[in-house]
Amino acid sequence: MSYQSPEYNAANIFARILRGELPCYKVYEDAHTIAFMDIMPQADGHTLVVPKEGAPDILTLSPEAAAAAIHTTQRIARAVNKAFAPDGLLVTQFNGEAAGQTVAHIHFHVLPRYTDQSFRRHAREQQQAEVLKEHADRLIAALSELSD
Ligand code: AMP
Repeated sequence: MSYQSPEYNAANIFARILRGELPCYKVYEDAHTIAFMDIMPQADGHTLVVPKEGAPDILTLSPEAAAAAIHTTQRIARAVNKAFAPDGLLVTQFNGEAAGQTVAHIHFHVLPRYTDQSFRRHAREQQQAEVLKEHADRLIAALSELSD
């Protein structure tokens, strides 16, 4: 049987961040999306783009919310490129546990990549608060310098 989207469960951790019930290291927000630092980053500057629409995955997200999410993902990718000067940029999005999804609210990962560095493990090692704050500040500064 093929992958079946789960029912959206508004108790998930990103829904709680969106409602302001949990903190995050926010770098960007607009009417349709929010972007914040991944607290267990696989590389310095690892940022998550989260649509505000309550959808578990890419199959259930509305086309309008998908368009807004990609626009924000592009903006964050430009900011990560400016702030962290990587050799490349990786954008990922997982659907279902079999694909590696651990939080069932759709989100896009923006990851800087360096030719001589491997990633830290996915969703395993929490980064120190001061480091996440400093990385968020760098991204906020980079975003303010972008034309769009
Ligand atoms: P995924 O496996 O694609 O669902 O990714 C979920 C991501 O969320 C992982 O990279 C986690 O490190 C990250 N994460 C989990 N909890 C939080 C949180 N409270 N704030 C920021 N990132 C989180």
